[in-house]
Amino acid sequence: MTTNTTTKKHQPITPRKQPLRRCVGCGQMKDKRSLTRINKSKEGVINIDPTNKQHGRAAYLCLDHACLQKAKKTKGIERSFKCAISAEIYDELAKQLEVVL
Ligand SMILES: [Zn+2]
Repeated sequence: MTTNTTTKKHQPITPRKQPLRRCVGCGQMKDKRSLTRINKSKEGVINIDPTNKQHGRAAYLCLDHACLQKAKKTKGIERSFKCAISAEIYDELAKQLEVVL
């Protein structure tokens, strides 16, 4: 006796995988959308890129001043961009973080 049960498996709707990026402050892997993109342009200008569309190298940071402070301490952004980050740039990033927040 054959039981012909057609069990249709419900395919769970999987949300599109968002790329994970590591925060240069706390080092946690997070959804790209919940991080601030810090961009370094070809000209070497470092700024926060709220549009996520600027060209150049990118480092990611949580929308959190604590992470910026950590990044400053551990030189996470320096390591990411392979260049020195001056105090003015950190100040500028802190200001821009406030705008983003
Ligand atoms: Zn973080």
